[in-house]
Amino acid sequence: MIIIGLDGVPYGAIKSLTSMGVMKNLAHILEDGVFRQMASSIPEVSSVAWSSIITGRNPGEHGIYGFMDLTPGTYRLHFPNFFNLKASPFWNTDGSKRSVIINVPSTYPVRELNGVLISGFVALNINKAIYPPDLIPKLMEMDYQIDVDSNRAHKSMNLFLRDLDKTLKARIEAYRYLWNSEQWDTFMLVFTGTDRLFHFLWDAYMDSAHRYHEIVLDHFRQIDEAIGEILHRMEDNDNLLLLSDHGFEALDVDVNINYYLRENGFLRLTDGTGENFTNIGSRTKAFALDPSRIYVNLEGRYPAGSVKPGDKERVIEDLISLFDSLEIDTIKVIKRIFRSQEIYHGTYLDQGPDLVLLSNKGLNLRANIKAKTLFDKGIFKGKHSQDNAFLVVKGRGNEAIVPEMPTVADIVSIKDKLILKRR
Ligand SMILES: [Zn+2]
Repeated sequence: MIIIGLDGVPYGAIKSLTSMGVMKNLAHILEDGVFRQMASSIPEVSSVAWSSIITGRNPGEHGIYGFMDLTPGTYRLHFPNFFNLKASPFWNTDGSKRSVIINVPSTYPVRELNGVLISGFVALNINKAIYPPDLIPKLMEMDYQIDVDSNRAHKSMNLFLRDLDKTLKARIEAYRYLWNSEQWDTFMLVFTGTDRLFHFLWDAYMDSAHRYHEIVLDHFRQIDEAIGEILHRMEDNDNLLLLSDHGFEALDVDVNINYYLRENGFLRLTDGTGENFTNIGSRTKAFALDPSRIYVNLEGRYPAGSVKPGDKERVIEDLISLFDSLEIDTIKVIKRIFRSQEIYHGTYLDQGPDLVLLSNKGLNLRANIKAKTLFDKGIFKGKHSQDNAFLVVKGRGNEAIVPEMPTVADIVSIKDKLILKRR
């Protein structure tokens, strides 16, 4: 079983890159394979989506609701890491099968497994990102790095692009080495530079006259070459899945939802600075965490929690009508408002948000508590989108295995059905 991930690449981009001849090897796979649009997680964040992809579970079961979360009982933010994932990744439940897993986001720090694991972002210390540790010197020799340094893009786009290219080349070198040197049943390789590229240069991707257009396409050409190489290395009975964790679209404007909550009296910060979530005061009825999660400031759940359990439903209804009325230039900002129990189920349901918002096209929801305006525009040109990730299954006759509109939580079961079919 071979799984190739392209972080943040939308269904539409795969369609056009394959028909334009930029991704020729992938185009070849599409000819007789299954190619579907896929729904991401809600919210459409890599850490949440990849956690669902590798466990086959929803956030209520795997416990990962966002890139950042509050430490229970506090207003302090932390990065949930691989130890916070409450459901088992497929490589731990595959019995005696051996896996090589490269660069899946939110698998840091590494945990022991039957095989090899190289963590994806966020990975703070490379020594805790590689299992088994005796592989560390080999990867260091390749100048392997987990992620491109996105800070460079704020200084110089050329520096960022050079680092992006270097990161991709080392990733490909690492896959080649492990493909040959390891015995494996499952090989999973994720490319994450695609997401970084689209955040900073979605406009360049869309506009053929843009000075960086060809550089963006070239990144996809290199990935396609790696896909072609993998195709040649595959044996007749091997299965191949390609997928993304969420889609992408142009970012027109940032919408600061904590600012909106403050403006409307739902969020009250103490001492007037509003620099931090720890300044949330006891007159607060609700606050937001990135990108679009809304939490009622419930008594007993938070240090300054003041909403009584009996009043929670009324606050939720007020929040729904508040966000329903949010507009920019007479266009509604919010497309759908989900209550937690509509989209999540499982043991960890109560750790999640009370509401999750889904925005209309181009409107990027953010929960920056320091925001000074409702609408904003930063350096990013592209944003994640929820309903247009993609999934490709190589080979004829696999249509029945893939749901008409698959979601990221279906991948483990699709993979298992493919393996059973080939037996
Ligand atoms: Zn992203």
